Amino acid sequence: MKNKKGQKNRKYIFVIGGVISGVGKGITVSSIGKIMQGKGFNVTALKIDPYVNVDAGTMNPTEHGEVFVLRDGRETDQDMGNYERFLNTTLPGINYMTTGLVYKTVIENERNLKYKGKCVQVVPHIPLEIIRRIERASETADADITVVEIGGTVGEYESILFLEAARMMKIENPKNIAFVMVSYLPNPAKVGEMKTKPTQHATRLLNSAGIQPDVIIARSETSLDKKRKEKIAIFCNVDPEGIISAPDVDSVYDIPINFEKDRLSDILLKKLNLKPKNKDLDLKDWKKFVGKINSAKDEVKIAIVGKYFRTGDFVLTDAYISVIEAIKYSAYHLGKKPVIDWLTADEFENKSKTKELKKYDGIIVPGGFGERGIEGKLNVIQYVRENKIPYFGLCYGMQLLVIEYARNVLGLKDANTAEINPEAKDVVINIMDSQKENLEKGNYGGSMRLGAYPTVLKKGTIARKAYGEDNIEERHRHRYEVNNDYVDMLEKEGLIFSGKSPKGDLMEIAELPIEKHPFFLGTQFHPEFQARPMNPHPLFTEFIKSAVKLRSKK
Ligand code: GLN
Repeated sequence: MKNKKGQKNRKYIFVIGGVISGVGKGITVSSIGKIMQGKGFNVTALKIDPYVNVDAGTMNPTEHGEVFVLRDGRETDQDMGNYERFLNTTLPGINYMTTGLVYKTVIENERNLKYKGKCVQVVPHIPLEIIRRIERASETADADITVVEIGGTVGEYESILFLEAARMMKIENPKNIAFVMVSYLPNPAKVGEMKTKPTQHATRLLNSAGIQPDVIIARSETSLDKKRKEKIAIFCNVDPEGIISAPDVDSVYDIPINFEKDRLSDILLKKLNLKPKNKDLDLKDWKKFVGKINSAKDEVKIAIVGKYFRTGDFVLTDAYISVIEAIKYSAYHLGKKPVIDWLTADEFENKSKTKELKKYDGIIVPGGFGERGIEGKLNVIQYVRENKIPYFGLCYGMQLLVIEYARNVLGLKDANTAEINPEAKDVVINIMDSQKENLEKGNYGGSMRLGAYPTVLKKGTIARKAYGEDNIEERHRHRYEVNNDYVDMLEKEGLIFSGKSPKGDLMEIAELPIEKHPFFLGTQFHPEFQARPMNPHPLFTEFIKSAVKLRSKK
């Protein structure tokens, strides 16, 4: 933990939730990172999830939102995607941890006699492993500043050991650590006043874990007034300048700029005893991007047909956040305003409903698992293929494109994926050889084909034109693949496999030639994980371009 001689003096900002969850800790971390980059620092960000799952890969998306896949294959929380997008960086697996992962490491170390016969205890050995991971992440990135998000809300049983690790780091190096609490100020309709008491309670809870916040981000519907700022400052023992107003916004991309209105970067730098490397905040590119969001007027209407939208009476879009953001970046880049609808796949089991898709300029079927909604998605794909509506299939959306083509163009009526019916007459999507054993042994966690793999593109195709190069690398998360026994047959009937693995044995992209359809393309990988605000993904951009073209003809 100590800064040994000659070792870089690395700084850490811990972001902790107070009052309630879901008020934007991840975006706060991303935005703090962004403004620190704007001050000239090398920044990295870490997410800590306090649950026992070893990673996010085994959780249902309606439970926990999207599973974001890192380049090295680690399956993580969607906040890692926010960090990568805001910071315009690629993060390694060491930047993500859960209680399960930390305990697993400590127990493995104990079994391997790494503690040399000592009694291994929850404290200090668990916090020490947490600290080791945080410091390793910082070193790996050679970061000046590391922003660490502790998931959940202060006072929860499961986050206490992470707070303890943060406290221990502060004791060791008081000048290198700052604490930010993201709080929430309710404004009950009947009371008619923004209330600060929950924030005071949350601060006391944090104090009881030995931590005093340096900054309180006050999330609320509206801006904080002077009176409430002063009240929080006095009762929570924080400098008034450290109370940052964070009202609801239309676009999360405004938040770094809003934080700077309260001079957050200078306040944090002062706490960390750092002098800015750029005197003036340099967020030129970021502001240009935000300008594009605000100036986009002409609409382009896209539907995402999925199955992870509903939870009880609520509709959540968290499960597809990377897809949604990727659509936005390409649309803004083209000067268009994206209007996105979420459609539940099951509804299209009734074929006559597909006519309603006419009002969209483009349709996406994103990644997915299992049987529910499949026949609905296949009806959607048939409709958009026959009616020349731009279609973009992501992972499962590509596999279903192939099944639809096999059924309705090749006439293989029973065509299916082994995931749903391994006994089907024509299993056009089959289990990957490398995956058979995993399923037989019930080895589900972290065992899919995960992370970045290369793809070679075929000349003269939509994909090759979009990327502008022959060799690309994209992130994956799947167990099934196109069955090679059917490739010739599919190609003879007009489907092109425009992207393949370097050995040519794995179909990575399927498309119809542009003369047959303006954009009918699916990828076995997840392009959405590499879309960035200032670097939109070429395939999404090509898809939106063809959607805009269709709209202009309407
Ligand atoms: N269920 C499919 C597979 O495992 C697709 C996965 C996905 O869409 N991410 O191959």
